[in-house]
Amino acid sequence: MAETESRTPMRVRFAPSPTGYLHVGGARSALFNWLAAHQSGGTFILRIEDTDQRRLNEDSLDAITDGLRWLGLQWDEGPEVGGPYAPYRQSERLPLYQEWVRWLLDHGFAYEDFDPPPPPGKNAVPDTTHTYRKYRDWTPAQRDEARARADQPPAIRFKTPLDGETVAHDVVRGEIRWQNSEIPADPVLLKYDGFPTYSLAVVVDDHFMAITHIMRAVEWIPTLPIHALLYDAFGWERPIWCHLPLVTRTDGKKFSKRHGDSALHEYREQGFLPEALVNFCALLGWSFGDDIELFTKEEAAARFRIADVRPAPSAWDKDKLLWMNGQWINHRLTLDDFVERSLPFLHDAGLAHDTPHDYVRRALSLEKERVKTLAEVPEATRFFFAEPHADASMVALLKKQGGDQAAAILEAALNALADADWSSRDHLVAAIDTVVQQSGVKRGVPFGLLRIATTGRTAAPDQADLMLVLGPGRVEQRIRAAFDALKAAGEG
Ligand code: GLU
Repeated sequence: MAETESRTPMRVRFAPSPTGYLHVGGARSALFNWLAAHQSGGTFILRIEDTDQRRLNEDSLDAITDGLRWLGLQWDEGPEVGGPYAPYRQSERLPLYQEWVRWLLDHGFAYEDFDPPPPPGKNAVPDTTHTYRKYRDWTPAQRDEARARADQPPAIRFKTPLDGETVAHDVVRGEIRWQNSEIPADPVLLKYDGFPTYSLAVVVDDHFMAITHIMRAVEWIPTLPIHALLYDAFGWERPIWCHLPLVTRTDGKKFSKRHGDSALHEYREQGFLPEALVNFCALLGWSFGDDIELFTKEEAAARFRIADVRPAPSAWDKDKLLWMNGQWINHRLTLDDFVERSLPFLHDAGLAHDTPHDYVRRALSLEKERVKTLAEVPEATRFFFAEPHADASMVALLKKQGGDQAAAILEAALNALADADWSSRDHLVAAIDTVVQQSGVKRGVPFGLLRIATTGRTAAPDQADLMLVLGPGRVEQRIRAAFDALKAAGEG
């Protein structure tokens, strides 16, 4: 694969249409392009394909740029000199497409279609009869006359060959052949409104942006013969095509925008890390090798080769992503980074607003190894920031744990902890162990009662660790509140 894998800098692009939010499959395409650019010391371009004015939506443009920035997939070029760059937008490049469609007309590769345009807001009905093909052979005089009579400019169609075949090469799929009788016949290149269609704009832009490798989703292969024919008509060198494998749902079905879980921003809101998403997306059609599953995009870029991209569809397995996110939080983030990224989630939940940073840091250090997403942090750590309710349900838990002895054990623990040395967790454990000895119950009972009293729940991080974070004052107050609630409920 020497030809496709040259280390000469690749110029690649991600070319989404701003039709909605950024689909995670789009994020995967963007990532593969970014990897190829970084592997080769090349250039990654973002080009917004916004020539279909009906579908234009400024919010979804922001969703694309915000999503890419969040993932750390910064593009390296834009229409203006000097960064930070705005993306290229096809709607700002209309004269270029019009100029090159004129070139095709002048050189006999395109013709004017004088049929009336479809009613506003409606797409043309796919025309399987190809009646417009009659205009292919019109004489200049016929065309002049029709133009003089028409209310608006004609659409411009590309002359596709009537017979023979078109062949294109794809790095992942090898040679692909189409019978010319089966490809879209004479597709529109320039619409009545002067806007280009996808195939014209994409070929003109990829040529003038000197794109060397086109990596995009496999769904675009049906348009490939038209692109190949356009390159040939213009006499331009074809780029290297690499169609990325389909991303499916775990049941193998199409993972379309209609399905939940397909929007990148949802993952951000659900507390996924960009690092984990990038890591996961890189594995949709590629593998890092050496059985290594966790890696950064920089590490991936050092190994990435487009010839290693596999054609088989890959499933979007959210459980695996969740696991991966947990691995990233548990093992790859520093504690400070974890705290910083968790704070917005805590604040949104109304927690830790005026809490000293060191206390937040110590509290979160006990959960860092346990949570799988940042969105779990508020619930997991709530008891550090808000008093547990010493209510009927807590009383029920305490009774279940300690039976008739619950109140007595809590009282003994209060005394033991009041006398304890709070300088280390071992001292606290030793203090509770004295309660175990005095009461003669199983060791789990006093620890369990203290857990319920201090956190309001039955599962939490190590009891001595969490008491050290809470500090003697809070611990005493909570145990007393639990004890009082038990007494008030007539249990002592
Ligand atoms: N505008 C197309 C899309 O929305 C881009 C296809 C391509 O990369 O050529 O995905």
